[in-house]
Amino acid sequence: MKEAFRYLQAELDEMREKGTFRELTELESKQGSRVRIKGKEVIQLSSNNYLGLTDHPKLKKAAIEAVEQYGAGTGAVRTIAGTFTMHDQLEEKLADFKHTEAALVFQSGFTTNQGVLSAILSDQDVVISDELNHASIIDGIRLTKAARKIYKHADMDSLEDALKDSASYRVRLIVTDGVFSMDGDIAPLKEIVELAEKYGAMVMVDDAHASGVLGQNGRGTVNHFGLDGRVHIQVGTLSKAIGVLGGYVASTNTLRDYLIHKGRPFLFSTSHPPAVTAACSAAIDVLLEEPERIERLWDNTNFFKKGLEALGFDTGKSETPITPVIIGDEAKALQFSDKLFEYGVFAQGIVYPTVPKGTARIRTIVTAQHTKEELQEALDAFEKAGKALGVL
Ligand SMILES: *Cc1c(COP(=O)(O)O)cnc(C)c1O
Repeated sequence: MKEAFRYLQAELDEMREKGTFRELTELESKQGSRVRIKGKEVIQLSSNNYLGLTDHPKLKKAAIEAVEQYGAGTGAVRTIAGTFTMHDQLEEKLADFKHTEAALVFQSGFTTNQGVLSAILSDQDVVISDELNHASIIDGIRLTKAARKIYKHADMDSLEDALKDSASYRVRLIVTDGVFSMDGDIAPLKEIVELAEKYGAMVMVDDAHASGVLGQNGRGTVNHFGLDGRVHIQVGTLSKAIGVLGGYVASTNTLRDYLIHKGRPFLFSTSHPPAVTAACSAAIDVLLEEPERIERLWDNTNFFKKGLEALGFDTGKSETPITPVIIGDEAKALQFSDKLFEYGVFAQGIVYPTVPKGTARIRTIVTAQHTKEELQEALDAFEKAGKALGVL
């Protein structure tokens, strides 16, 4: 048995030699501003739990009640017998929240991008994608027969060239992350929409890291830039700021109906269990009822970012709670992460292929749950590690 996998093991061994092999980190506590790892309590700077909703009492209560009333699972895909009333209700709530006609939920943000892109494009179409888009967008594009054009990251000249170059296609779909997950910069969505309108292209934005973070009550980048009604397809995740699991697309009734018939993850994979759906629904209520969480998130973001910059770290071009601390060398970034852990902070090193070679980094995300004291403690740990490893 082992023999058959030797070709994979060889690659793993090579990673071990280079110092880029990583064990999975086990959390021994619930998610939060502090977590227990290897028996040690550390400040968590690696979650996407922006608003601290993973253990919000309203979400937990909704999940428990849903389990008691509707059970642990749904027993079918949505199109056979797996659509519960609560699934439709959540979608109505999401459409309302995003100011769109309709919404459709998928099992995850990943499958949403795969499902949408693979369904709506054919060989008559072209997809025009930012070079730093998320893996799920890249994989979604790989599943289509559409022509592809990659434009330079957030570069509007490069995007315009691609648009000029693609006049012959039936549909031209521009796709971009709203907030880029490894750099924390925001897509120039206003300029993208203006170019799209000039050239008659469609726009799809993936707001995985913007929903719950940017825009009124966390409605995302489209609302943030005042572009309601001008972006054709908004993708969101229910797994990050929303604190649970899932993804959705917010758009028109036409797109929703189409994806119900052609979206493969929707058609061929079982629907969310009641606990997940009910908790997501409660989370949207929390976004509307507790906007102070978003204020706290931004307040913490500004405090932490300023602190890192004052220490002399390179935080790239981040404009959001995602703040990278760029180290460059891959092994050193991982060492840095280990040092931080020693000093009581959990912040993952991110290396190639997740980010380009030579731009290895520590990726931090502060949340609304962190106290200023925790963030100061984290800054102190960064300073110590930076000095110990000669980064500062
Ligand atoms: C995290 C992420 C996803 C995937 O979302 P999941 O719900 O975790 O599957 C998709 N797109 C972007 C930009 C992301 O950052």
